Amino acid sequence: MNYLLKLKQAILAALIIILFAALSYSQSQPYVILISFDGYRWDYVNRGITPNINLIINAGVKAISIKPVFPTKTFPNHISIITGMYPENHGIIFNEFKDPFNDRYYYIGDSLEVRESSWYRGEAFWETARRQGIITASYFWPSSDMNREYRRPDYFLHYEHEIPYDVRVNSVLDWLQLPYNERPHFITMYFDLTDGVGHRYGPISPEIDIAISSLDSTLGNLLSGLEEIQMRDSVNIILVSDHGMTEVNFVKIINVEEMLKGYKFGSSNSGPAMMISTDDADIEKIYSLLKKNENHYKVYLKNDIPPYYHFSKSPRISEILLVAEMGWAVITNKDLKWMKPENYNGNHGYDNHHLDMHGVFIAGGPHFKNGYETGTINCLDIYPLLCKIFNIIPNNNIDGKLDRIEFILNEDLGK
Ligand code: AMP
Ligand code: ZN
Ligand code: ZN
Repeated sequence: MNYLLKLKQAILAALIIILFAALSYSQSQPYVILISFDGYRWDYVNRGITPNINLIINAGVKAISIKPVFPTKTFPNHISIITGMYPENHGIIFNEFKDPFNDRYYYIGDSLEVRESSWYRGEAFWETARRQGIITASYFWPSSDMNREYRRPDYFLHYEHEIPYDVRVNSVLDWLQLPYNERPHFITMYFDLTDGVGHRYGPISPEIDIAISSLDSTLGNLLSGLEEIQMRDSVNIILVSDHGMTEVNFVKIINVEEMLKGYKFGSSNSGPAMMISTDDADIEKIYSLLKKNENHYKVYLKNDIPPYYHFSKSPRISEILLVAEMGWAVITNKDLKWMKPENYNGNHGYDNHHLDMHGVFIAGGPHFKNGYETGTINCLDIYPLLCKIFNIIPNNNIDGKLDRIEFILNEDLGK
């Protein structure tokens, strides 16, 4: 009897200790909001029209730029940021591509395919974090609405381009006011405005400056909302973009279909880069023709793609790759239907080493150094940085490296 009573007391004491440990762990977990401004070129923050970004910079970290991965497109880059892997490893090699093993076609405008989890070969940070006891949320991020529960954030929404930006901000503020045991500590947000306006009017235009100011006001609303709920000092904000934008015009266009008249070939993507597939027998002939006419673009056989692109390993990469010179576009006839001189003034997708393709990186909050400026950050290193902030174990197949970025953290964390 006495023994049973003692056992019960011991179990009760153990349960209380576990409960307290769990509670204090969840209370001591950091908060991070990872924000993406699509197509926000690195220099937009230097135009003197972003007072709210300056608030973060003054008390945080500003990198000269963030270097994206090739191709400098929206999906490959967002997924590299959130997995720490090159597109050839995480599998989303372009905004659209064919699966060589079946007839399926991945395309960012096809919500069914975008949600199909088998396309995604990497592990997103929210998956790593959830497994290790962190509640996560996403008010949009490519691949956050996969059709497998354990591979997406605890809270997520299916992508809807038109959702007003203050609705997104207010929802995030609501998430942060949930009871502790339901409250997300890692949240992503996504805003497309500078991408759309940049394509239409170009990166140097009055219209893009208005877009830059408008996104800055949205950020200002988030900052004052955090102030109101008394979380401004406890939340880390990391502002990134997936790529930059360069000026283009309708004169710098090369129609590949004209050049390859008489050949049967398939193409995917167009403009700054294009993949071409064809029957094995025609690969060499098509390559030779493209090589002979190589002017304002480069053509590569898959095995000869320069190693600095880290773009050859995936079976989803076609046999021939074209990369246009900055400002130029490789197209096929169907592109002429949507490309109109009046709304074709900016583009991205080019060589990721070119500065026009670089994006923005700003970070502030309790885990970051104060008033610190640094050089170019590699987008692959954000995933290991997040793991470091949350003190969790990263997926070990990543291409990102913590030692290239951890110096931006506060001294006691950045070691
Ligand atoms: P890009 O062609 O690389 O400029 O792609 C930009 C487009 O990606 C934006 O206009 C968005 O509409 C789209 N987009 C961004 N996030 C998502 C998402 N999570 N799901 C589907 N489409 C998205
Ligand atoms: Zn983009
Ligand atoms: Zn774009």
